[in-house]
Formats: sequence, structure tokens, C-alpha cells
Amino acid sequence: MSISYTVQLSKPAAHIFKVTQEISQPDKNGQILSLPAWIPGSYMIRDFAKNVIQIKATSNNSKIELHKIDKSTWQAEPVSKPLILEYEIYAWDLSVRTAHMDMTHAFFNGSSLFLMAHGFENEPCQLEIKQAENDLLTSWKVATTLNKQKTNPAGFGLYSSNNYDELIDHPVEIGNFTEFDFQVQNVQHKMVLTGPHRADDNRLKKDLVKICETHCSMFGEFPVTDEYLFLVMVTGDGYGGLEHRSSTSLMCSRNDLPLISETEEPNEKYRNFLGLCSHEYFHTWNVKRIKPEVFMPYDLANESYTKQLWAFEGITSYYDELALIRSGVISCKSYLELIGQTITRVLRGKGRLLQSVAESSFEAWTRFYKQDESAPNTIVSYYAKGGLIALVLDLTLRKLTHEKHSLDDVMRYLWLNFGKKNIGLVEGQIEQIINEVCGVDLNDFFARFLYGVEDLPLETLLAEVGIRFNLRPTISFDDKGGTPSEQTNAVAFGARFAENGFGVKIVQIYSDSSAESAGLAAGDTIIAINELQVTKSSIEKVISSYPVASKLVIHAFRRDELKTFELTLKEAELTTCYLEIIEDVNEETLQKRNNWLTPGLTPRT
Ligand code: ZN
Repeated sequence: MSISYTVQLSKPAAHIFKVTQEISQPDKNGQILSLPAWIPGSYMIRDFAKNVIQIKATSNNSKIELHKIDKSTWQAEPVSKPLILEYEIYAWDLSVRTAHMDMTHAFFNGSSLFLMAHGFENEPCQLEIKQAENDLLTSWKVATTLNKQKTNPAGFGLYSSNNYDELIDHPVEIGNFTEFDFQVQNVQHKMVLTGPHRADDNRLKKDLVKICETHCSMFGEFPVTDEYLFLVMVTGDGYGGLEHRSSTSLMCSRNDLPLISETEEPNEKYRNFLGLCSHEYFHTWNVKRIKPEVFMPYDLANESYTKQLWAFEGITSYYDELALIRSGVISCKSYLELIGQTITRVLRGKGRLLQSVAESSFEAWTRFYKQDESAPNTIVSYYAKGGLIALVLDLTLRKLTHEKHSLDDVMRYLWLNFGKKNIGLVEGQIEQIINEVCGVDLNDFFARFLYGVEDLPLETLLAEVGIRFNLRPTISFDDKGGTPSEQTNAVAFGARFAENGFGVKIVQIYSDSSAESAGLAAGDTIIAINELQVTKSSIEKVISSYPVASKLVIHAFRRDELKTFELTLKEAELTTCYLEIIEDVNEETLQKRNNWLTPGLTPRT
């Protein structure tokens, strides 16, 4: 029995991949084939089969009928000889989740390109990646962590996988990329950058080595033995990442990458890029190996519900930033700015008081991944609040066990006893493990903060490690928090705006705000305040020039109807957070802070 696939870059200008698939001994009752409806790591039904634009089947040189059974599935008429399928896939989605091809490069996830032969999911697969015939593309190379069988120096040729799950978990980039490599734990690591850029490879390498080493040291070992690959698509303003078992696909803006002139401390954009690399790398353990039982195996035809995404995305978000300071890549001040920004994001959304992080995980498929303008008021992010739960949990474990245990111990335990042994976690099991590993009873903690909607005790716990928690009003539309401000803005309009040709379009309205009370709604276009024209660049200044309780007359279009609204300006809420190091602390507090932020690189036994 064998299943083989051949990928041809048949019509790059039309964004079309051609795939030929051969099943040596197809199901005698009529082979069923399907494409996944979603890709692991991105919890939304995307129905990749909608991009199949042509498909035909033959066997023994005769045409075979294919019947479409549902949106993602076909069934071939029964045959006794090998079944050959030829299909074309439209690939014009520039994201880390699907496939994309033009005359500049080709990128695909197997979940967008390869039909799964039902009944043979666990059979080995072969993949041939063919060199493009187009003369303009002869200089292209291939980058992937798929297992090489027989390839030419550019990487075209034969690859293999042990099963379908593995086949679709190694994204493939083909083009004229730049690359550099480095070693971590004696494993080759490579970064491939596609798209025009002027990044300083040496700087990237220096920082990535430190970050990767920090994660490996915390877990005690790296799960990948042959090669780890960072595939980076460099664009004007892209951002995103998706984890895989031995690689990650990233998308970034070229302004995120460091130039030769980059100073020692990464600027905010470069810090975000390093955080993204750190995040996806941490997933190599947490979610690619330590994973919910419901993902083993993945049901790629339907939603897979779990309340555990707070642990897989929240804990990962916590460690992606923590590794930046623990590795010495960023300063303590810079790290506190990052946490302050996350706290700000959580505090600005009243949805945190309605939806728990466990519910946010479970409802990821619809409510988190299909957000509308009401999102800040109705949902909470299992990334942001999940990350803060991890932070509070870590500090609580350190406190309750008198520095004997921390979240690091829990992660090592999960790796050694679950991830490494290929055992999945059932719902609620992580909480039990935390109690057991650290000898504590945090059931009340989980009930209040994870399954409940209580705000986290950040101020008290941070004070115990010598960090001051401060809140201030938001001072401008692009105020992300994390830093103090001299400016005192007393009033808040309570909306987010975008430019809209002839006025200012309201993108979001916050619960209990001045704008909501006045009856304004997302989608309205404000053209004047107190009968004077406003634009996106002037509206902020106009609003902040009025004192609290001022009454404003707003002229705005709802659809094509001009309306008048009377708005009373409320006082700005204190929802913007910044943290500060308390310099004057005793030796014990200092030691606790150092244990947490700069523990050295040897894991505690
Ligand atoms: Zn993630």
C-alpha cells in the first residue's frame, strides 16, 4: 500500500498548484477523500476544499467518476487498480494558514493541498515537489522540514512522511529566499526569509540563539532531533505565526526586522518579532506535543472543543515574553512594558467580566476567531488573560511553596509525563497536575480566575516581588499602555475610530462609555462636534479640550441618514497599566524577583 503526491507549480501567475495523487490499493467500496476544514493551531473552520477548482480521477487509464459527498469530501467509484487523482488548487491567500503562489514565491501547508485518503490516514506518504518549468523560476529553492528522500541541491525532489498528519504538519516555502543557520542543543536551526528585506542576519542569529537556548534549558531538552526551521514571509505590514512540529510559519513587516544599526536593546517592533519567534518555538513543546486529548488525533472535519486553550496559548504567551528577559535579550524595563501592555488590553475590555477564559477557549471557533465590533465588550482573549493567569499562577506557586516550585516545574512535568510520552490531557487535568506537582490546592484560584470572571490579584502579587502596579487614564488613541505618562486626560469618548473619506468612522464603542450612552454605534461616521468639522487627526484634540461633564452635539451619518446625538463626556477610567521596579526593596524581595526573572539557565531539580 502506498500513497504518493506530486506537486507542480503549474500556473504561478494564476496562483494554481497542480497535485497528482496515487493510491496503490484504494478502498474497494469506493475511495473516500477529503481536505481538512481547519488547520491545527488556528481554531476556525476554513473549508480548504473550496479552493479545489478542478478534480478528476482515473484508474488503469480509464476515467473514474467522483461524487462530491459534502463540502470537503469526494467518493470515487469502486476500482480494483491504483486510483490516480489530479486536481488544481487555487492559492492566493497570503497567510501562514493556507497556500499562496505568484511569480515571486510559492508557499503551502499540506492541509490546503493534499487530499486525505480515508482509511489510510496512518499509511506512509511520499511527496515529490517538482521544479517549475517556467524559465523565470529556475533559481527557486525549497525550504521545509519534511523528511528528504532524494532531492537536488535546490531541494526539489522526493520527500516522505510516516502518515497524513505528519505530511500536513511541515509547511513548504519555494522561492528565492535568504537564509542563515545556527545551532541550539546541537540541533541545526535555520531561518528562511522570503520577500525584500535588509535584515541583519547576525543580529537575528545572536538573539534567536539566546531565546531558543532559554526555552530548551527550561524544559531540559529540545524535542526535535534533526532540524528546526523558521519560515518567515516578509511583507509591508503582515503579522502572524503558526506552529508546527519542527518548524513555524511566520509573517512579519520588514520594519520589524533589525538593521545593522539596531542598537543593543531591541526597539518595539523588533521586540514583537522576537516575541513571535519565541512564542512559536515554545509551541514545539506546548501544543505540538503537550496537547489536549481531543487533538489526538485531530478531527480535521469538525470543530474540536476544549477549555484548555488558555494553557496552550496563554502559558505560551507568558513564556514567549518571559524568555526575552530571561535570555538577556531585553531589559527588565522592557519586559515590564510588555506585561503592562497586556494588562491594559485585558482591562480595557469589559467582556472580561462576562466571559471566562475557559469559555473563551471553548468558544474560540466562533466568538474569538469571528470577532465583530462588540468583541471588547463581550469576550475575553485566552491569549491575553490566559497569559496573565499564567503570570499570576507562577507568582502564586512561588509564594505558596516558598520559592520551591514554580510554573517552570509544571511545564517540565507536562513535557516529561505527557508531551514526551505522547499522552493527551483531558479537560481539567492541567489544574490537577499543578496542585499535585507543587503540593498546593488552587481549586479556588481556578474557579475564580479561570472558570470565573474575577479580575486577577496582580497588584498584590507583583508588589511581593518588588514591582509597583500603576493605573492611569488612556491619553491617546494609540496609547497601548505599559509606560507612564505626564499627560492627564480627564475625559473619554469611549470609541475607536478610523478614517472614512469625509469624516471619522466609529469602529468600536466601549460598554458604559459616553459614546454608548449618547446612542452612537459602530459604523456611524462623525462629521462634526459642536457644529465644527472633525477628522481622524483632529477629533482626539477636540474631545480632550473639553472638561468632564461637557455636553457635545455630535453630527453623524448612520448609513445615509444624518443624525444628531447629544453626548455628555464622562471621566476617563483608569484602565491603562504600567509597572515599575521598586528599587528600595529588602534582600528577600530582590532574591524572589531574580529567581523569577533571571533564574540562570539551569533548571532546578
Ligand atoms: Zn500560539
